[in-house]
Amino acid sequence: MNTDEIILVVEDEKEIADLLEVYLTNEGFKVLKAECSKDALDHIGKEKIALAILDIMLPDIDGLTLCRQIREKYLFPIIMLTARNSDMDKINGLSMGADDYMTKPFNPLEVVARVKTQLRRYTRYNNSEAEASLEFDRDGLYVCKESHKCELYGKELSLTPIEFDILWYLCERKGVVVSSEELFENVWKEKYLSSSNNTVMAHIARLREKLGDEPRHPKFVKTVWGVGYKVEE
Ligand code: CA
Repeated sequence: MNTDEIILVVEDEKEIADLLEVYLTNEGFKVLKAECSKDALDHIGKEKIALAILDIMLPDIDGLTLCRQIREKYLFPIIMLTARNSDMDKINGLSMGADDYMTKPFNPLEVVARVKTQLRRYTRYNNSEAEASLEFDRDGLYVCKESHKCELYGKELSLTPIEFDILWYLCERKGVVVSSEELFENVWKEKYLSSSNNTVMAHIARLREKLGDEPRHPKFVKTVWGVGYKVEE
């Protein structure tokens, strides 16, 4: 496989950076390495980065701060590397905009796999955004992404932002089953934990109530048992 995609590896431990470089280059990626946040930002300003891998422990500012700084301007996927368990709390607790994280020591093959997953997601998301319609209109349900408006049989529904995002996420992917995990990570933009499924279920229940959907025979937001939710095409 050959790609022109550039992966930025920000890590001051040379052995780890080199290891990642070997594995990623092997998969056809171009790798840029940076030993500190300053070098990383230099690269980002000059090159079109497809994805960045950031270590948390860096010699200048830490990787979490760097991640937030990058997110102010850029949307490419970011994978965090962390050595300590206490970093995990920070990663879970802060919405600094990372897409995934891995704990050291890691298996380089798993890093490569996650890089590919993130790139696929990112590309799919961008393409669907470019082509997709900004409206959904079927069986009396009208949802407009642009105006953030939702109408049922011509009557406007008042949805919370989360409820709207859930509904729009499903409408945009109409006909496709969306897992609870995918829904959570895209709507809440947080890492999916074991408790997250309950959060999703509770919000789906309230959304269905507003849509007049009977839990056992929902018309709009359907449950596909053991898989997830979907809105019919
Ligand atoms: Ca480091």
